[in-house]
Amino acid sequence: MVSTFPSLNTIDLSRIRLTIRNLQPQLVEWRRRLHQKPELGFQEKLTSAFIAEKLQEWGIEHQTGIAQTGIVAIIKGKKTGSQKVLAIRADMDALPIQELNEVPYKSQHDGLMHACGHDGHTAIALGTAYYLQQHRHNFSGTVKVIFQPAEESPGGAKPMIAAGVLKNPDVDAIIGLHLWNNLPLGAIGVRPGALMAAVECFDCTIFGKGGHGAMPHQTVDSVVVAAQVVNALQTIVSRNVNPIDSAVVTVGELHAGTKRNVIPDTARMSATVRYFNPELTGFFQEKIQQVISGVCQSAGAKYDLKYWSLYPAVINDVGMAELVRSIAEEVVETPLGVVPECQTMGAEDMSFFLQEVPGCYFFLGSANPSKDLAYPHHHPRFDFDETALGMGVEMFVRCVEKYLGGAD
Ligand SMILES: [Zn+2]
Ligand SMILES: [Zn+2]
Repeated sequence: MVSTFPSLNTIDLSRIRLTIRNLQPQLVEWRRRLHQKPELGFQEKLTSAFIAEKLQEWGIEHQTGIAQTGIVAIIKGKKTGSQKVLAIRADMDALPIQELNEVPYKSQHDGLMHACGHDGHTAIALGTAYYLQQHRHNFSGTVKVIFQPAEESPGGAKPMIAAGVLKNPDVDAIIGLHLWNNLPLGAIGVRPGALMAAVECFDCTIFGKGGHGAMPHQTVDSVVVAAQVVNALQTIVSRNVNPIDSAVVTVGELHAGTKRNVIPDTARMSATVRYFNPELTGFFQEKIQQVISGVCQSAGAKYDLKYWSLYPAVINDVGMAELVRSIAEEVVETPLGVVPECQTMGAEDMSFFLQEVPGCYFFLGSANPSKDLAYPHHHPRFDFDETALGMGVEMFVRCVEKYLGGAD
């Protein structure tokens, strides 16, 4: 996909207002500073101290230490009219990856890296807060900027909601973005309905009866049972799920045995399950349990299954997606422009916010192959075109001004 991107040498940034274009050097500086000090989920101490320091400096009311390292900033518009509350969500955490980029702003924390772009999300949210604070006369109501920990895992959205970030004042709608190297710089991926998948996981141990590889009749071969289970699981998506619904069952780990002539007692597997349609909630857990139970029973094996749900699907509200789409069309003017075909089986805990209030999560294209900035997310050489930072601020600011337009 990356190789089919159009040339980006002539990207038109004229639709980004001058004040935000002038903020670009700061956005890059903040992003690079954050990039050099990546921190894992719920350990974003330096990151959150940096955010708090900036908010303090700009006189923006904020609360720190929410769900450990989370921050919420509150900016009240000066226009009269609608007193609605719009939230903007950014995540702050990095990944346990050793960075392989040789750049001046390379990670200084051994084994840790901002390989998903959350450093950029934080910089965009900071830039948005700064701009809105300076331009409060352009909107009514309230903007809450939510800096969330631990998106990668184990998930910071849920504890932040539990801590009340959507209350007092109560949030009416929420928006958020992900810098996206699956789209070129200048494209924005937005669509109503499902954008990202629900993710569930399971670990299963199969207990057979070990023995000599030459005398299988004396054993219950856990390897053969596990192989049959893996095969049988493939029919769940192909035969039980409506073909109109997309879903994935991937067994990514399978472990058994120590020696070629020994039939092992046990085999272990770990898997991930993905789907968009919320009506499938609970279906895979039940079906997978049935398949494993049936195969094990027929072979005389036993099993232990641990199944859990990680994140629900990211479902965009129709009205909010239309708001973001209309603004994306104002902000970008490139051959690809606004891309509704941007669904991914990737997952995001933004979904928990979207279960609480209507909102829209969207992808901000950030790949630029002409600058060698097109590695996939979570790759040790991931990096993005920082031009996208200003575009992100422009998107958020325009969303605020349209949603909280108020009276002149
Ligand atoms: Zn990620
Ligand atoms: Zn991410």
